[in-house]
Amino acid sequence: MNDLSAAAGADAGALLAALPDPVAWLGPDGAWTVNGAAAARLDLLDAGQDWQALFSDDSAARLRRAVQDAQAGQTTRVTVKIVDTAAPGLVTVAPSGGGVLLHLHVARDPLEVALELMDGLHLGLTVQSPDSRILMVNGAAPDILGLSAGQLTGRDSLDPRWQAIHPDGRPFPGDTHPSRVALRTGQVVRDVPMGIFHPPSETWRWLQVTAIPRLVAGTNEAKQVTTVFADVTDRYVLQREMQRSEQRFRSLVEATSQIVWDAHPDGHFPPPQPGWEAFTGQTPGEYGGAGWLDAVHPDDRPSTLRDWRRAVQTEQHYLTEHRLRRADGTYVPMQARAVAVRDENGAIREWVGIHTDMSAVRDAQQALIDLNADLERRVQERTLALADLTRFSTLLLTAAGEGIFGLNPDGMTTFANPAAARMLGYSVERMIGASQHDLVHHHHADGRPYELRECPIHQTLQDGQTRRVEQDVMWHAQGHAVPVAYVVTPTHDENGQPSGAVVMVQDITERERAQEQLRELIENLERSNQDLEQFAYVASHDLQEPLRTIGSYTELLARRYQGQLDPRADQYLHYMQDAVMRMRSLIQDLLGFARVGRHDTLLERVPLDDLLRAAAQNVRGTLDDGGGTLDWRTPHAVLGQPSLLIQLITNLISNGLKFRAQDRPAHVQVTSHLEGEFVRVTVQDNGIGIAPEYHARVFDIFQRLHRREQYAGNGMGLAICRKIVEFHGGRIWLESAPAQGSTFHLTLPVAPSQ
Ligand code: ADP
Repeated sequence: MNDLSAAAGADAGALLAALPDPVAWLGPDGAWTVNGAAAARLDLLDAGQDWQALFSDDSAARLRRAVQDAQAGQTTRVTVKIVDTAAPGLVTVAPSGGGVLLHLHVARDPLEVALELMDGLHLGLTVQSPDSRILMVNGAAPDILGLSAGQLTGRDSLDPRWQAIHPDGRPFPGDTHPSRVALRTGQVVRDVPMGIFHPPSETWRWLQVTAIPRLVAGTNEAKQVTTVFADVTDRYVLQREMQRSEQRFRSLVEATSQIVWDAHPDGHFPPPQPGWEAFTGQTPGEYGGAGWLDAVHPDDRPSTLRDWRRAVQTEQHYLTEHRLRRADGTYVPMQARAVAVRDENGAIREWVGIHTDMSAVRDAQQALIDLNADLERRVQERTLALADLTRFSTLLLTAAGEGIFGLNPDGMTTFANPAAARMLGYSVERMIGASQHDLVHHHHADGRPYELRECPIHQTLQDGQTRRVEQDVMWHAQGHAVPVAYVVTPTHDENGQPSGAVVMVQDITERERAQEQLRELIENLERSNQDLEQFAYVASHDLQEPLRTIGSYTELLARRYQGQLDPRADQYLHYMQDAVMRMRSLIQDLLGFARVGRHDTLLERVPLDDLLRAAAQNVRGTLDDGGGTLDWRTPHAVLGQPSLLIQLITNLISNGLKFRAQDRPAHVQVTSHLEGEFVRVTVQDNGIGIAPEYHARVFDIFQRLHRREQYAGNGMGLAICRKIVEFHGGRIWLESAPAQGSTFHLTLPVAPSQ
């Protein structure tokens, strides 16, 4: 092929080359020359095929005829069908430069044009397969849906990534999407509103969707579905807003139930009165003139008329209340007001009136009155209860002998009773509002500063635990410490939150003083006891020596001069010897008493039976002389010092034998019982008994109830018994009455089982 410009001249050649339509020139020599657009079309054909392959067979035949006509000098236009396109083509075939020029004008593919149009209108389009997979999308769809063409292609309607909703907010499941419905039913689904989530803007957009199925010819079965959608978000939002404000407006109007009306200066009520008509249902003919009064409750008509006439006459504003009949026949309490509207000369131009429904106001007023009454009653009840409580607590606080403080969470005193104030020397007023710790609890008894964190009261404020402190001090206004014991109890407000603490303080000055005195007394007693024992021991020990000397010389005197002096001297000597013996025995006993417990002795297990056997041995002389009988049943063992215990039991048994009744032989019985940690030993006789008033005294040293001539003895036996029992940590007491025999009880620690 030759260059076109060579054939048609430089300018024409350039023009043809630039033409978007395909152009071909058949030279006189039978050679074809084509421009770029034509070359591009021909390039699509398989190599070796000529231009005729571009057209359908009959189009190619008609073109060939037209070429022949052009060669004969005639220009023709031929409509052709181009292979592979739906759009028809128009070829102009004209004689030119000795050859023939063919100009192909191709109409555009309608689908392509439609798609382009839709893009321009910003309408989205998708084509989906029977399983609802997206096969193609137009240019606007990705923008509307917020997904790229790549993301959209291949995705189906059931893909969980779609997020769609109905206008009322319900989810819009994939299976109910218009495209799926159209595929299922073979019917067109039109104008379905649908909210979709638009990922790039992260907003919900509103679409109006129409799905058109393409059916297999002659069936109801869809082979494809084309879905067209428009983004109607702006319109939708606007509509919703309008709906909302309209609704608001309507409810406002409904809620206010007001009627606005106007009247002539003379009080005439002219139509139209749309508000009045709507409310009362009266027609203009009914309410015109004074007919409106018919809608007022008969009982309220006179007062209404009176008020209206007065307003019209005095030109003052109109205010009245009456029941107005609503269209449904019920009467509604209304307040009617009207004002005169004047012109520039001050003359009344018209009346403008308004009726206001009072029922809501009345209801609200009644509810308010009821509420107030209820509130009043509750306040009164509560006040009474509070007053009672306050009176009671004030009484309690005032009467309490203990000091009572209330503290807030910061440790400030919120109340203090008179006892607290008295105890610490402040006025109640001075204490309230002051930091309790700083005022009265700032130092320890020894003068060290009392750190807040170690203060038990402060700790309770922190952790809400009750604390009891047995010994502490609080500081008196005059600077001295007051010994105190106190209890700190946390308090809570009505919501159960910690609200501080109550401290109940007891002045323990007296208690401490009494304890101190007791301690001193005990110390003194112990000391004097020790002194006494020491004295008794030393005295008896030291007395032995001179007594021994007196005894020896008395003995000597008696032996040498007995019978040589007069009888009286012999008697005196006898008295002396007797006194020395008695003295010796007294000293022996005293020494024995003083010795008890003087030496640290090891306590050992002592079976009572062993003791009894030894004691029986000691009193054997008395028993053998027919002085009585002794038996025992003592199966227990005690912890003690054997020689002291033998002395103890021997003393008690020999007393029982000694203080026998004249009329019966003495009988002594010893028994034992286990009493917890102790063994109780009981020594019972059938002797003369002891009057109750002497029961305590018989245990004192040198205490005797009889003269020596009646019963021998020094009055030391029971004193020694008591000392031995107490040395072992036990107790001794007796039960007896004159002539009833005596029962001595004593307790000794039980020996641990072996
Ligand atoms: P003594 O036996 O040396 O007189 P005690 O101290 O043993 O001294 O007893 C003090 C007094 O208690 C006795 O003098 C006696 O009056 C009275 N007494 C002691 N034991 C008995 C008893 N078993 N029955 C009656 N009286 C008793």
